[in-house]
Amino acid sequence: MVNIDLTGKRALIMGVTNRRSLGWSIAAKLHAAGAELAFSYQGDRLKGEVEKLTKDIPSARLYQVDVTQQDQLKALFADLAEAWGTIDYLVHAIAFAPREAMDGRYIETTRDDWVTALEISAYSLVAVAGEAEPLLAEDGAMVTLTYYAAEKVVPKYNVMGVAKSALEASVRYLAYDLGEKGVRINAISAGPVKTVAARSIPGFMKMYKRVAAVSPLKHQVDQTDVGNLGLFLLSPMSGGITGETIYVDSGFNVMGMDLGDD
Ligand code: NAP
Repeated sequence: MVNIDLTGKRALIMGVTNRRSLGWSIAAKLHAAGAELAFSYQGDRLKGEVEKLTKDIPSARLYQVDVTQQDQLKALFADLAEAWGTIDYLVHAIAFAPREAMDGRYIETTRDDWVTALEISAYSLVAVAGEAEPLLAEDGAMVTLTYYAAEKVVPKYNVMGVAKSALEASVRYLAYDLGEKGVRINAISAGPVKTVAARSIPGFMKMYKRVAAVSPLKHQVDQTDVGNLGLFLLSPMSGGITGETIYVDSGFNVMGMDLGDD
């Protein structure tokens, strides 16, 4: 039996709304493995919920950070530099696109909605990595969350699919830059999981049911599956893996065209 022991390691998780959040599912595994944790959440609105979630993690550090605000990112990493000195692991679990940009045709995406979605869902990873770089330990690792629509058209996912493509390409370029120091970065491509962000995607429940019907494993993945993969990709167990998109989706991405029964 191999145990992953991360005692003495320090991890920052960015993007937690509630206990269904994929960021939280990875945080829970890191905590169980013994890592010390810090969390960032977007707005004051979430403060109470995140405090409640982390009440059994006494050493947890909490920060309010909007990733579009570079000064807030700078303040976050300045504080962690003082408190921790170095960061071993970083989880980026943040995405946003205006609802109207996911409810029609991609061709109708406005300039403002396109820029907003790409800034929050893809550029934020670059901004975070840049600010974190001086603090990242030599065998440090980062993960971000992506989705199948980065590679193939998923109707309605629209600009978020394009943002996820940019995110996955950024993972490869960041892997090249950070690799010089021994730091790894990978993307987890998760099948549909019921979270606040997912439920705001038009047609999400249809997609959720479809995965269970046609994927090789015939069931959806859940927060535990994502948490386990996150733990693996951050830990030394995955020491030879960087710049990759790794799927946890019950095998859905291996399917070709499926026309269904009728
Ligand atoms: P979630 O719990 O809603 O997490 C998304 C987080 O992004 C929220 O905490 C949200 O804060 C935060 N966020 C949005 N704009 C931000 C900003 N400007 N600054 C800082 N934080 C911001 O949903 P989730 O499903 O766990 O999403 C986490 C990641 O997994 C996302 O990248 C998502 O695309 C990805 N993913 C999800 C699924 C799925 O089926 N659930 C599948 C594949 C990939 P607010 O709550 O304040 O908006």
